[in-house]
Amino acid sequence: KVVTRFAPSPTGFLHIGGARTALYNWLFAQHHGGKFLLRIEDTDRKRSSDEAIDAILHGMKWLGLDWDGEAVSQFAQAERHREVAYAMLESGHAYKCYATPEEIAERRDAARANGTSFRGDIWRDKDTTDVAEGTPFSVRIKMPREGEVTITDHVQGDVTVQNSELDDMILLRSDGTPTYMLSVCVDDHDMGVTHIIRGDDHLNNAFRQYQIYEAMGWDVPEFAHIPLIHGPDGKKLSKRHGALGVEAYEEMGFLPEALRNYLLRLGWSHGDEEIISTSQAIEWFTLGNVGRSPARFDFDKLDNLNGHYLRNTDSKRILELIEGTLSDAIGHAPTAEEKEKVILSIPAVSERAKRLPDIVDNVSCFCNIRPLALDDKAAKTLSGDDIKTMLSGVIAQLAGLSDWTLDTIKPAIMEFAEANELKLGKVMQPVRAAVTGGKQTGDLIDTLVILGKEETLSRLADQTA
Ligand code: GLU
Repeated sequence: KVVTRFAPSPTGFLHIGGARTALYNWLFAQHHGGKFLLRIEDTDRKRSSDEAIDAILHGMKWLGLDWDGEAVSQFAQAERHREVAYAMLESGHAYKCYATPEEIAERRDAARANGTSFRGDIWRDKDTTDVAEGTPFSVRIKMPREGEVTITDHVQGDVTVQNSELDDMILLRSDGTPTYMLSVCVDDHDMGVTHIIRGDDHLNNAFRQYQIYEAMGWDVPEFAHIPLIHGPDGKKLSKRHGALGVEAYEEMGFLPEALRNYLLRLGWSHGDEEIISTSQAIEWFTLGNVGRSPARFDFDKLDNLNGHYLRNTDSKRILELIEGTLSDAIGHAPTAEEKEKVILSIPAVSERAKRLPDIVDNVSCFCNIRPLALDDKAAKTLSGDDIKTMLSGVIAQLAGLSDWTLDTIKPAIMEFAEANELKLGKVMQPVRAAVTGGKQTGDLIDTLVILGKEETLSRLADQTA
């Protein structure tokens, strides 16, 4: 049975790279009918915060990446991590190191001066009979000196490291706290993780962690180290290029399903498919199709995908998503009548929208905010006495309609244009400017139908004053 996990360190928000890692772990587990677990790696007490944990949980939920069981706190497992360090001491796979910080620093400096790599193995073979009781010590792993290890990574392929390159890293510090390297292995083992899918910045750690599994006689999980996300210029992803927290994408007005689709395609592919539903993704997701080179983050692509999802989202749901910002835009909570008009206007407005604020901007004119603010172009279209006179004529014509539908409004306007020897556009343009203020609302007659007779005539009248 497949068990994956996402193991973020709560030192910041759930950034876009982390979200993609979480998504891949989630999809892999779903694909195999397995489990997806969440572990908060909060052992670095100084840099971890509750706000960051909340942001991570919120981001995961927003993206729809639900995890099995409770989120595990790594810090809470410290006692168990210590137990494993002592078990390794007991079995001879680790040893006590009594070196002082000064001695270690000296060694490090000497290694640097000689151009050799530092080894913390001062006490590896030293006789400890003379060490006074109570002398502080750290616990170091006794790395094998011979041989090599090959990890068959699901993304990187076979990667081999000579054991002689591995340092006798610390497992337990002299203050008794476990190191990150030890904690990760113990937790992954205890949580029954079968597949570790994470950023390739952890590939080097895999060889060190491998030795802990071996020393404990545990099954080594499968590894998949995915290339990091780069900016459009191929360099490390910067804030400007999208290295933001997931909540920033929520605030910018992206739909979670669009971001999910985008992150899926960012580093994974299934032929030329671009629009991939979650159920398709679950069916198709394999680690073999994760790309080996870093993906490039592309905001335009994300915008286009989001536009696609906006056009295909139920208008009621869109309204729910924008209700807060719409209230801000119109200065009051929309009434039931306004909401109805907004819902009817959403399909046409979504045609051109990339992000939710684009929709808010263009549907706000369906709420009762008179006199309507005009943009520069609309103001220009409506300037001049001729226009005012003409609009008065339009009002008179439309006021006579007892039915307010597509089939009655259009003929009425055409009749008016003909009677006054005006091109249809010369009538329609000012009417549009007067009722929308310059917003993009789709077909004009549809717009008038949605607005209703009373609101339409009032807005026209506002421009004749
Ligand atoms: N906590 C690590 C990080 O946030 C992940 C460790 C792992 O996945 O093994 O980079």
